[in-house]
Amino acid sequence: MAIAGAGQLNTREAPTWGSRSVDCFEKLEQIGEGTYGQVYMAREIRTGEIVALKKIRMDNEREGFPITAIREIKILKKLHHENVIKLKEIVTSPGPEKDDQGRPDGNKYKGGIYMVFEYMDHDLTGLADRPGMRFSVPQIKCYMRQLLTGLHYCHVNQVLHRDIKGSNLLIDNEGNLKLADFGLARSYSIDHNGNLTNRVITLWYRPPELLLGTTKYGPAVDMWSVGCIFAELLHGKPIFPGKDEPEQASKIWELCGAPDENIWPGVSKYPWYNNLKPTRPLKRRLREVFRHFDRHALELLEKMLTLDPEKRISAKDALDAEYFWIDPLPCDPKSLPKYEASHEFQTKKKRQQQRQHDEAAKRQKIQHQQQQHSRIPPPMQQQSGQAHAQMRPGPPNAPMHGSQPQLVAGGGGPGHHYGKPRGGPSGGSNRYPQGGNPSGGGYNHHPNRGSGPYPPPQAYGRGAGGNSSYAGGPPNYSQGSGSYSGAGGPGGGRGNARGQQYNNWQ
Ligand code: AMP
Repeated sequence: MAIAGAGQLNTREAPTWGSRSVDCFEKLEQIGEGTYGQVYMAREIRTGEIVALKKIRMDNEREGFPITAIREIKILKKLHHENVIKLKEIVTSPGPEKDDQGRPDGNKYKGGIYMVFEYMDHDLTGLADRPGMRFSVPQIKCYMRQLLTGLHYCHVNQVLHRDIKGSNLLIDNEGNLKLADFGLARSYSIDHNGNLTNRVITLWYRPPELLLGTTKYGPAVDMWSVGCIFAELLHGKPIFPGKDEPEQASKIWELCGAPDENIWPGVSKYPWYNNLKPTRPLKRRLREVFRHFDRHALELLEKMLTLDPEKRISAKDALDAEYFWIDPLPCDPKSLPKYEASHEFQTKKKRQQQRQHDEAAKRQKIQHQQQQHSRIPPPMQQQSGQAHAQMRPGPPNAPMHGSQPQLVAGGGGPGHHYGKPRGGPSGGSNRYPQGGNPSGGGYNHHPNRGSGPYPPPQAYGRGAGGNSSYAGGPPNYSQGSGSYSGAGGPGGGRGNARGQQYNNWQ
């Protein structure tokens, strides 16, 4: 990883940044594991303010400060928007860090550097994964509109986020959504002539042009990810859960059709087109597969999940889509329910504990049954127990919940610098509504990951089992209440003559 001299940090814009010690904060608990370090909830001792401290991992850096952290700091310092996370300051811990007993930590790193952020109660993945979680249509519209507003602001300021996904969308208990984790973000020039790396964006949210190897791209890459999130919110689980690049590409072709020169002029010139193009003709099936979505939602989704990046809808135009301007309107963020804090890191941990607990209980139950049914003396009991376990009625052992492969974005290809482990975004749980058609009750969360309360799934995709099946369910969730006109809320309101509210951002 490229490095920069230590003296390059914080010297120009804000000399006071970096001057305070992390001792000004009391660490409360770990809430995340980031691209380059842990994230903690912490309290500022003097003011009592709750913040998030993101530690910049230095143990892999032999010669200085990681360039990704410098980029994130530089970019966040220039972005000021209610839908972009606020970086408050940088703090340091001067000496070797202390362990729990106050002894110097054996860690090679001599001092710690932390980014101090405003604290957010949830990330979208963690929130969606809460047991029994149901998002209403106005709520989905509210989150989507804030996501698009924040992203439009970034794009106007010529910043590509390059890692839009649920765990990077932070939500507070006031219903505000903010883009976070700018560790892969970078500035771009409008002419798109720069050579950029195509090894960015977590695999499930990565657009086809990056999979096909382009190094010249722009804001459309983020809009593909937004389309994936939107579909995920409506569908209840990730729509393209590929385990490596070829599978990722084929999942996209199966839903969005084969990329050819007719629909995407120039595609056959992309570096990896010949390796990843489908081997048989494939029609676009998005409308068919998601026919149970609301018409306006589907219309918008079509425009986001457009293969040709030149034709893909921009954040600005998406904000103008009918979807956001017809009943039920996006709700006022403040009207949203307040939830106990939920970050992906924590929900994963809780699920893991629950799984261990369930397995222990199951083992105990089997043991108990064996003891009850068996009248055979001890030496034979064991044998019998084994046979019994193999022959017990019912379906064969279901795959363990959460047993999806750990995803490392980019399929671990050589030179891939994005190594954030991604245990399938909290799994393919059906955590969202069953359809996009605003007409019924709430959304059914189903704790069984990968299988949902849908009618028999209409399978699609290549033998990837439950993960890749889409199900058309009857619309069953309500329009909810608390719609609001949008005026003054994130994204502005119709009174602002759609789209005119973004003029002073540059
Ligand atoms: P990041 O490295 O920024 O992706 O952070 C990893 C995880 O830490 C996120 O998915 C969040 O769950 C959590 N996190 C990051 N920043 C904050 C914040 N400002 N407030 C609360 N949680 C955060």
